[in-house]
Amino acid sequence: MRDTIKIGIIICDRYRTCAGGKCLRSMRNREGAFSIYKDQQVELVGYTTCDGCPGGNVEYAPEEMVKNGAQVIHLATGLVVGYPPCPYLEYFQDFIEAQYKVRVVVGTHPIPEKYLKIHSKLKTWESPQWRELIRPTLTDEQTRLAYD
Ligand code: SF4
Repeated sequence: MRDTIKIGIIICDRYRTCAGGKCLRSMRNREGAFSIYKDQQVELVGYTTCDGCPGGNVEYAPEEMVKNGAQVIHLATGLVVGYPPCPYLEYFQDFIEAQYKVRVVVGTHPIPEKYLKIHSKLKTWESPQWRELIRPTLTDEQTRLAYD
């Protein structure tokens, strides 16, 4: 039997009414950042928002997720693609890993093509740091179009 990885997802509060459609679909299909779990079962043990800038819920929500067994916390793709992207992204990643000793992955579902188009025009992701941050969710054009 394949082993099970337990994950939590924190989304950007801008998208707080989101029902999680793209995240859950990509989790099921092992697309985008979830492609790392190709050979594992994935169980979602927590899903919440950052509670709005500057992301106060990031201080506490991971604790609940870890208590529920979370081994990895995903910062949703909305933090990457929003206009502007979350300015605290790397801080959140460092903080959660330092405070809760749990792995943090930036991204969930593949970046939709429409967001890539605009961010390319804006040159948002040209730095080496950004290239690394979008690496798990950039995928390919066909996949990105399927998430538009
Ligand atoms: S930009 Fe960052 S801190 Fe602000 S609402 Fe979105 S995730 Fe939270």
